[in-house]
Amino acid sequence: MTPDETPPDAAPAAAPCPICGKPAAPAYTPFCSKRCADVDLQRWLSGRYAIPGRDEDALGQDDGSREE
Ligand SMILES: [Zn+2]
Repeated sequence: MTPDETPPDAAPAAAPCPICGKPAAPAYTPFCSKRCADVDLQRWLSGRYAIPGRDEDALGQDDGSREE
């Protein structure tokens, strides 16, 4: 129970843009504009690229060695 939780009977207004806090635009939900959507996308991509290479070779390389 958080004090700033939106009451259930409040208008189902879109959550504020996670980037700038402005009201979200339906076309860009949950963002307020394409600009903010792009910002988030860039963050996401850079966060992804920042992840050091993991053992991808070890994953999903089943080589079909499992016979039936
Ligand atoms: Zn925004």
